[in-house]
Amino acid sequence: MNIRKAASVASTGTPDAQQLKKINLYSKTPLNAEQVYCFSVRLCDDQPDRDFERFDTDALPVLAELFRGKTGIVDHDWSAERQIARVFDTEVLCENGAHYIRAWCYLLRTEKNADLIAEIEGGIKKEVSVGCAVKSTVCSVCGKPYGSCEHRKGLVYDGQLCLAVLRDPADAYEFSFVAVPAQREAGVMKKAEGGVCMTLQELVSKSGTPDLCDSLNALEREAQFGRDCRKAMLRETVSLGLLLDFGADEAVLQKAFSALSSAELSVLKNGMAQKAAALFPSTPQLPAAKGASGTLDTAYII
Ligand SMILES: [Zn+2]
Repeated sequence: MNIRKAASVASTGTPDAQQLKKINLYSKTPLNAEQVYCFSVRLCDDQPDRDFERFDTDALPVLAELFRGKTGIVDHDWSAERQIARVFDTEVLCENGAHYIRAWCYLLRTEKNADLIAEIEGGIKKEVSVGCAVKSTVCSVCGKPYGSCEHRKGLVYDGQLCLAVLRDPADAYEFSFVAVPAQREAGVMKKAEGGVCMTLQELVSKSGTPDLCDSLNALEREAQFGRDCRKAMLRETVSLGLLLDFGADEAVLQKAFSALSSAELSVLKNGMAQKAAALFPSTPQLPAAKGASGTLDTAYII
């Protein structure tokens, strides 16, 4: 599952000797401090985000490791020429109870990068987003794999907000400077990358208009009515099966008829009702109908 999250450039600086040593582990030719521009980025943390998701605290050290050596790009452009910054060190820090990954990055002080450096220094390029993959997502309420239980993220259960907890990082891809910060608000990026699965209800409650929410609610009520009708029809068909003595008990009939579509069930029920009416003229078509029990008993005696 691919995940994309917002992050930010936390600070900037010139590399010291120790940092330069680490940078040179990643550079093809040895660099000196003057050739390199160094800055740090706050990547993922373990706090709930606007999508009601959070990284598992235990996942952060693994992710931090995976982000080492990865590149930073502008505008999500994947072409090699645009891969301009590289993560040379990462650490997991704790601040006000929140754990987060700080990544130290460098880029070359070339003419091509001059604008970007100026923008980082000026605080213009401070929004970045990160991409990574996780193997599992669990429900924060019950701990089951998210989507397999009845809890939905963003909803409150017994005073507890349900979150999807991202666990078991598999890979870290890159971080991107986001030219238009508003883009990351959309949550579209994650979807476009085949990210987190979403129910229709979640999608509408998150991105839908009040009208869409109303119409989804109306559809849900109608669907419930449909389910109730099917249940009643199934009950009647099982009763008819017993009346016509199909040679199977109620549980078996129930199981067999449940496999039919509603249209098939309806055809079967009508056919069986006609047969029952022909065989037992005094028996009403619907055994459950008013005053049916007395006649039904007689029918069984016959
Ligand atoms: Zn759950």
